[in-house]
Amino acid sequence: MSDKISGSCLCGAVTYEVQNDFKRFYFCHCGQCQKITGSAHASNLMTEPDAIKWTAGEAHKKQFNYPDRDFTVVFCTECGSGLPFVTKSGKALIVPAGSLDAQPNIQPNNNIFWAERASWYDDGKLANKCEGFPS
Ligand SMILES: [Zn+2]
Ligand SMILES: [Zn+2]
Repeated sequence: MSDKISGSCLCGAVTYEVQNDFKRFYFCHCGQCQKITGSAHASNLMTEPDAIKWTAGEAHKKQFNYPDRDFTVVFCTECGSGLPFVTKSGKALIVPAGSLDAQPNIQPNNNIFWAERASWYDDGKLANKCEGFPS
């Protein structure tokens, strides 16, 4: 029996518990993930579909299915934060790593759709590191 960890959206309307027994952890650099996150890549953990238990706010979940590629996003209708969802095939639960409130059991192990990565991604990793805003 693995440990459970909790997750939530930014506003706290939606909360869940998930088994901390993830199998895969991918950074997805595809064009759709850049749009959805407004950032360089999605950070998605994958596990079994029945590993999750919603603990609050299921009515605040909204799902969007992108028509041209097998691509889904679920988000909080109040704050827009990405939330876990089961893939169309029903075979996997995708958990956005940033929605977790604790450390997952594994580290990222693949950068997928690497060729689609943002043109500024590689240079961005070399940029100055600041505790807050730059002085
Ligand atoms: Zn929210
Ligand atoms: Zn993607």
